[in-house]
Amino acid sequence: MPLRAAILERLKEKLLEKRRALINTVREKRADNLETGSDGTQDIADQATTAYTKEFLLSISDTERQQLKQVDAALDKMRQKAYGQCERCGEPISEKRLDALPFARFCIACQEEEERS
Ligand SMILES: [Zn+2]
Repeated sequence: MPLRAAILERLKEKLLEKRRALINTVREKRADNLETGSDGTQDIADQATTAYTKEFLLSISDTERQQLKQVDAALDKMRQKAYGQCERCGEPISEKRLDALPFARFCIACQEEEERS
């Protein structure tokens, strides 16, 4: 059964929130590193909505980059109406799981398999 629109909407909000948080973390980190902080990095969150600059991607950690990628992939799947499906077995991912991890790519069973291999 496909996810209900209301749930989808809520999960989308979560994803966008996560995305903002990630981008903010990067911004704060950069602000710490830069003495002036006035090199235009303030606009990164806006600039980075669709494509990231090379500089931006280099400035973030692997974990952050990984998460950002997963969040973006999930948002992409929402646009393609393929969201909430396990990428491995094609079964729907439980609502509870998506609620805890909106950018989950696999159902619980497949996630465990993936981690084992
Ligand atoms: Zn699965």
